[in-house]
Amino acid sequence: MKSNPKFIFFTDFDGTITQQDSNDFMTDTIGYGQDKRREGNIACLNDSISFRDSFQDMMDSVTRPYDQCIQYVVDNVKLDPGFAEFFQWSLKNNIPVVVLSSGMEPIIKALLKKLVGPDAEKMQVLGNQVGPRDGKDINEEGGWTILFRHPESGFGHDKSIELRKYSSLPEDQRPTMFYAGDGVSDLSAARETDLLFAKKGHDLINYCARENVPFTVFEDWTNILSKCKEIVEGKATVQEAAKAGFEAYKSGAAGVNVKEATK
Ligand SMILES: [Mg+2]
Repeated sequence: MKSNPKFIFFTDFDGTITQQDSNDFMTDTIGYGQDKRREGNIACLNDSISFRDSFQDMMDSVTRPYDQCIQYVVDNVKLDPGFAEFFQWSLKNNIPVVVLSSGMEPIIKALLKKLVGPDAEKMQVLGNQVGPRDGKDINEEGGWTILFRHPESGFGHDKSIELRKYSSLPEDQRPTMFYAGDGVSDLSAARETDLLFAKKGHDLINYCARENVPFTVFEDWTNILSKCKEIVEGKATVQEAAKAGFEAYKSGAAGVNVKEATK
């Protein structure tokens, strides 16, 4: 990166920056519904289906024209209340924010523009694309399909590929890397960064606990901002933060049942 940052903040989008997952929201309300969607999420956590295939299935169940899908999501999905403040702090402190998403870039960019304003263009957004089905236009009924960034990967968008561009740099050039996420789409990123923020009560915590991936718990972006300030100002290390997160999980403060998660 041109600005040679000491820290980079990578983040999931849906359910992490936003309060609701826009793809889950579309699937649950105008696609095949919550029960079937949840079955797919659980199958994915248990490794019985790839994230890419379960997500393709979800998106295929949404047939509304794409321009209407964008409008529907923009009208209904809300930003985490602390994110705008976090983002302004990151701009002032030369900490690039990079969105790594398994969702679709046109929807993410439309939401960020509405929720963050013109500064949203300073955020790098890497997600999947959308394209027309045979002989159709994306803005007609049943006209669009998701186009994966890494169609050969079971993740569809393998977030670890972008992260490794930085994690593989020599020690003296390598920035400290943060990541925030909430769910199954973050599994490919979970091991790659220095400090992982996992959303309280969500699937990513179960996975991290099961796989022994260190993490710290957040409820909203005000938690992330205060922890990042401590680290950037040298009052805490990423190792201390990760250790505290695992202890919060073990004590039940992470909003998930330890026995359930480690089955
Ligand atoms: Mg998510």
